[in-house]
Formats: sequence, structure tokens, C-alpha cells
Amino acid sequence: MEMEQLVALCKRRGFLFQSSEIYGGLNGFWDYGPLGVLLKRNVKDAWWNDMVTAHNELLVPKNAPSSYEMTGLDCTIIMHPQVWKCSGHYDLFHDFMVDCRESKKRYRYDHILGRKVTGTKRGEGGEPGREMSVFITTMETENTQDALNEAALKFFGLRKKDIETLKWEGEIQSVSKLNGFDNVVGPDAKNPGTLTEPREFNLMFKTVLGALGGEDDATFLRPETAQGIFVNFKNVCDSTRVRVPFGIAQIGKSFRNEITPRNFTFRSREFEQMEIEFFCHPSQSADWYKFWRDRRYSWYTEMGLAGDRLRLREHDADELSHYSVGTADIEYQFPFLPPGEFGELEGIAHRGDFDLRSHIEGKLVRDGQRLVVEKLPNGQPKHRGSGKDLSYYDDISKERYIPHVIEPSAGADRATLAFLCEAYQVDTAPDDKGNPQERTYLKFHPRLAPIKAAVFPLVKKDGMPEIATEIYGELKKRFSTFYDDKGAVGRRYRRQDEIGTPYCITVDGQTVQDGTVTIRDRDSLKQERVKKDEIVAVLNERLGI
Ligand code: ATP
Repeated sequence: MEMEQLVALCKRRGFLFQSSEIYGGLNGFWDYGPLGVLLKRNVKDAWWNDMVTAHNELLVPKNAPSSYEMTGLDCTIIMHPQVWKCSGHYDLFHDFMVDCRESKKRYRYDHILGRKVTGTKRGEGGEPGREMSVFITTMETENTQDALNEAALKFFGLRKKDIETLKWEGEIQSVSKLNGFDNVVGPDAKNPGTLTEPREFNLMFKTVLGALGGEDDATFLRPETAQGIFVNFKNVCDSTRVRVPFGIAQIGKSFRNEITPRNFTFRSREFEQMEIEFFCHPSQSADWYKFWRDRRYSWYTEMGLAGDRLRLREHDADELSHYSVGTADIEYQFPFLPPGEFGELEGIAHRGDFDLRSHIEGKLVRDGQRLVVEKLPNGQPKHRGSGKDLSYYDDISKERYIPHVIEPSAGADRATLAFLCEAYQVDTAPDDKGNPQERTYLKFHPRLAPIKAAVFPLVKKDGMPEIATEIYGELKKRFSTFYDDKGAVGRRYRRQDEIGTPYCITVDGQTVQDGTVTIRDRDSLKQERVKKDEIVAVLNERLGI
């Protein structure tokens, strides 16, 4: 599947629009259209239902060390600035970026890829050409070598047929692996040596509280929902009867001032997260980590990402955050990534007691095997914690401890995008006259499909609209349903296929006589007759929701 086709479908059918499009759009911001909002809500509802509402705390799920409770929160986007100082985001949440002095563009350092090449640069004004070796670059794309070929031809002033004269050396690599940029031709530059040294750039959006706000009133839009959960840990323990092990779930907006937002909604500056902070006894945390890693992976497969485009990748030791004992990513092979590359859908991290301790004691740093409060030269904590007691007292074992945390942190927008990519299908189906035609359809899991059923009267007469509106009224009470009486019925089917509606119900001449309607399956295209009074029960069963 070409990504452009999906992007075009998303716009044409109202799944996704560029934010503020009439003003030229805003890079890294996306709006969900009438169908997109239904799809994304279904993704979030499925997550909340499967993780929280339908979780039975009386049973021990398969491979879980014990039974556990789940509860939820909805915290504010703007929080006390100290939260981000103690969590480490204020000092550490940054990316490295480089600027190009020539093109005036800014890039994320580790996203510029390149390769050394030698060729003959065409001389200007009749001058003879001269041989040069440079490091040609491009931003990561589906086919990086093709993009490098193109950039090299441009740089040397050559035509396509001269491609064989270029001598490539070494592997494609990120510029972050190089020792200097003197020989590097930036992705949009004509000359080598125009990239600046990498600089740090904090990804948090800063804002100011109140009308007179100065630097002391500066605060941030949250870059993750997790911290709202940690700082409410004591409130949840004190106001409910939850006992460790238990999890707190939250869905909400997060903001990151990404340097190079791209790949449709994959890397946005405003996005939604679905996060769980799971609190457990330190002695059991390794087992809970494994449980959550596998549970979250299987959730995606249950929702339809069952193919080999989904994978679970355990981080190597050198990739782990300074506080993490283990981290795994659930990744999807998005069509916009180079072949063989995967993009993160969700990270599952064993975070030890890092977060609760940070909010008790202050910002922590690693000192050998230990985490210690970071100190200023005068011995004071660099960022002082709340000083509140966030430990947990187990009144059965009479033990007091700081729970360990397992964090499955997912992105609602990335999941929605993966479900869209996976659902996009093209096949051949007969049109109204029985001629084979190419058909595009979205093969969503029924739980995710924005519209579950469509109802059509075959023609707008002979009593058919009356029966169809009655069926529509019944279905509408239970499922999101669409009524369509416009145009040839084949075209109406195609319109529903294209937005992933699993079932279409058609009222025809026979309905008027015997009370049966046809129900058509989006994937198999099979049509069956069922009694109109049984349609709700049939859909209930087939949709499985
Ligand atoms: P990446 O390495 O891709 O920047 P990350 O490792 O920083 O992601 P986390 O901090 O682990 O991401 O955030 C958890 C989840 O939030 C990610 O798995 C992803 O689904 C989502 N997410 C993070 N950043 C973005 C973004 N800029 N746009 C959309 N979703 C995002």
C-alpha cells in the first residue's frame, strides 16, 4: 500500500484533516474528521474497556502472578512546574537538533541519514569538472538509497544516466555517528559544511500562568500523562480500597514540541496517550513486567494487527533509561518507513521505584547501582521533591514499602494510524452489472469500525423506505448506523466498504412480501437473507460487541 493513497482516503472520507488547513495548516497538528473521531474513540474505548472496565479483579488472568485491581484518573494537562523538575523532564527531556545555515531548516540530529560518495562535480561556465568526496544526506524515507542517489546527482550537477559514475562508500548511517560536519551536504543544502553543531532543544511546550506571569509563573503542557498518575498515587490509595498490586489508567492529550513532526499523525506535536501505571511489590515486579509486556502485545493482535507487521522488541541494556530494569516496545511496520524498519506503538517499561521516589525526595540521578537525589554544589537538592509520604502500607503483611511501577504507555493516534494502515485493502469485486472492478476497503475489526452497519432501501418507493427507516431506528439505538438511499446500490456498498462498515442491510422487493432483508458482509461480499425482526440479534452476534 502506498501511504499517499491512505492519506488521500483519510481526507476524502473525513478521517483526518490537517489542522487549520484553510490557513495553510500547522506542522505536527491533525484534526480528526467525522469518521476519524469515531474510529479513534473506538480505539480508546476498546483500550479502556479491556484494561479497566471489563477487568475482573476476582480472577487471576493467564500468566499473571496474581489477581489485580484496575482504576482510572483524568488529570489536568497543566500541572505544578515542580512535577516536571522532579520527574526529570525539565532537565532531560530534549532532543538534539541541527540547523542548516544555508536552507535555514532545522532537523532532528539522529534522523538525518547519509553516505559517503565520490563523483565529478560539473564545472560552472565551461570550467572543467573536479572530483570531490562528500557525505550526502537525506531525511529517513521509504527508500533512503534512492533519495541519496537523487541528492547526489543534484549535488554533482549530473543527469540520471550518469548515476554509475558515482562511487558510494560504506553503509548508510546517521550523521550522529560522524565526528564533524565539514564534508556533510545537508538534506536541503547545495554546499557541504552548512550544518551547525547539534544543540539541545527541550520538547516541552512552555506557557505562562496568569495575566502578569513572569519566569516564576512559567509552566508546561504535559509531555506525558503518567506524571498525573504518580502525583495522585496517595489520593487514589486514600480514597479507594485498592490494594497493591493495582493499576491506574489514564487517557489524555500530551504535547511535545517535536523538532521534525512527520509521517502523518505518527509524530505529532499534540497527541493522545493511553497509559497505565501499575503498582506492585518489588519482589514481583519482574513477573508483572513480563505479564504486561505480553498482555499489551496480545491486545493489538486481538484488535486486528495480527500479521508479521507487528512485533515485540525487548530493549538492549544500552537502550534502557537510567532507571529502567527492562523495557520492551510494541512496534508496527508502518508503510512510510524504510523496508524492514518498525515504528513504536507502545513502550512497556519496568520503572522500579524511580517515579514515586522522585516525587518524595526530588530529582534522582544514577550513582553506580543506586539512584540518589541530584545535589547542587551547596549540597541542596537540585529539584526538591514534595516530601510527602508516597509509600504503601500493606496491612496484612504489615510491611511498608515504595511500590515498583510497570508502565505500558501507548499512543492513541499511533494505534489508530496502525489500524488504518493494516485495514487498507484493495481487491476486485463485481459492480452492478457484474463486471469486475477494483475495490478499496478498510478491513477494520468490528469493534473499531466507525460505522457498524448501513441500511439501504433498494429504491425510494413501494414501501421500502418505510421498512428501511424502521430498521434504521432500531439499529441506531444500539450501534453507529448509517442510512443511505442515494444512488445505485452498488455504489452505496462501495462507499461503505471504503470506510470499513462491516455490514450493509438492504430492503428490497422481497422484503415487502416476506419480511426478509439482505445482509452483506464487507469482507466476503456474501449476501444472505435474514428476517428483518432478527437483524439486531444477527448483528449483535456477528459484530461480537
Ligand atoms: P519516539 O521514540 O517515537 O519519539 P518515545 O519513545 O519518546 O517515542 P514515549 O515517551 O515512550 O515515546 O511515549 C509513549 C507513546 O506515546 C509512544 O509509544 C507513542 O505511541 C506515543 N507518542 C510519543 N510521542 C508521540 C508523538 N510525537 N506523536 C504521536 N504519538 C506519540
